[in-house]
Amino acid sequence: MEMLINGKAAPAADAAWIDVKNPATGELVDRVPGGSREDVNAAVEAADVAFGTWSEKTMRERGLLLARAAELVRRDHKQLAELLTREQGKPLRESIDEVRGCANIFEYYASIAGRPAGEAVSLGKAGDCLVTRVPLGVCAAIIPWNMPVIIMGWKVGPALLAGNTLVLKPASTAPLTNLTVARLVQEAGAPPGVINVVTGPGEITGEALVQHPLVKKISFTGNGTTGRRIRMLAGDQLKALTLELGGSDPMIVMPDADIPKAVEGAIRGRFYNAGQICTAVKRLYLHEKIAGEFMHLLTTRVESLKIGNGLVTGTEMGPLNSPGQLDRIATVVQTVTDRAEGTILTGGCPVPGKEYERGFFYRPTLIADVQPDSAMLKNEIFGPVLPVMTVPDLGTAIHEANRSQYGLGASIWTRDLATVKTVFTNVHAGIIWVNRHLTVPPEVPFGGTNESGIGRENGFNAIDSYTQTKTLYLGW
Ligand code: NDP
Repeated sequence: MEMLINGKAAPAADAAWIDVKNPATGELVDRVPGGSREDVNAAVEAADVAFGTWSEKTMRERGLLLARAAELVRRDHKQLAELLTREQGKPLRESIDEVRGCANIFEYYASIAGRPAGEAVSLGKAGDCLVTRVPLGVCAAIIPWNMPVIIMGWKVGPALLAGNTLVLKPASTAPLTNLTVARLVQEAGAPPGVINVVTGPGEITGEALVQHPLVKKISFTGNGTTGRRIRMLAGDQLKALTLELGGSDPMIVMPDADIPKAVEGAIRGRFYNAGQICTAVKRLYLHEKIAGEFMHLLTTRVESLKIGNGLVTGTEMGPLNSPGQLDRIATVVQTVTDRAEGTILTGGCPVPGKEYERGFFYRPTLIADVQPDSAMLKNEIFGPVLPVMTVPDLGTAIHEANRSQYGLGASIWTRDLATVKTVFTNVHAGIIWVNRHLTVPPEVPFGGTNESGIGRENGFNAIDSYTQTKTLYLGW
């Protein structure tokens, strides 16, 4: 599948191609160009030219484009979802959720197009001021492979509504659905150059994009090390930045919780998308009064999860996205075992069996009583491995929850309002869920504290991050 530059399909300038393989079978799904600096220049220049007219359109006109794009994404959702499963690995029903989620995001931003972004300020006799919000120009969106379609929506919706133009750089292991959705935005009526997609290795194509002088803002989701590198490269040119760098979300279960519901919450929270989600449940803290009952139910449920090719009906968990992911997860678990930092209750190895040998399948894993200083609790574990700790009281749970370098999300499972308030006030995170985990609606801001990154996506606030104020001072 070719890149999308200035409204046209584009091969790489130097004819290099990257294979995109199905992580469940190893089969070739398609190829994408390994874009060079020359391709990035062409995409950014096209976006810069398109910015002139796109930024002059009304918010209503730009919102209409997003509404039409949402319709096309819904029209093609089955094909898009199948493509997403084939390149990324997740079960088909999760792909359908994700594709529909992208349509929801486009619709949300279309629906707020009438909301004025600016304010009038009276200075009495000294005059009046009109504070407007103007778009930034060409924005770069660097997208990871774990939830590529939703994350594309988070960036495309507010950026285009605010009047910017875009160059997207998808992940090399999952670029195809991003390319296809971008073509649908084009089909919905985006003028050439408003949305462009360049593919290719992060260190080449990504860095060329980050460093291009015409790029005014970079929105990146992914690994913290990559985020820091992007910040360094962009900092020199004083570009605006949004960085979403993951998390190590705690889930705390109190004795008054609905235990079966909380068990299902932990299953979905940790094993959805094979655990490859920034806001997945990455640390489970159980109050000692319910720990035994909870663990019995959880272990039974984990051992019943149906693992396989995401295209097969009934599959509950697919493979990891790449051999690199599989290695990372296997190494983390091996380290816990070698250092006797916890007890493996179930899983702890790749899925055995002939039908799994060509894919990157890892068994859903529960590890009990992980030592507080284990790297497993400090770093982001991006796979189907859940460390479980027993705590004597809420205070200890909050103390342990806050020992992470991250602060993206957290959940508390209880029926008691005072417990909710204590957790909301004291746990460091951008979002606190009560009796649920993982849901990220487009209507509210999303992002975290500390090592989880800089800035917020979603909600009306995201429009602020794709604009800057410009004030008219009227001295009467
Ligand atoms: P990366 O952060 O390296 O990749 C994310 C995106 O950034 C991809 O499009 C990638 O392109 C691009 N990229 C990579 N290097 C650069 C660069 N120097 N300049 C510009 N763009 C670049 O994540 P990985 O794929 O390496 O995943 C590793 C780990 O990162 C995971 O195990 C997980 O812990 C974390 N992660 C977190 C995510 C989150 O949602 N917070 C999402 C994905 C990963 P390319 O694919 O071509 O390398």
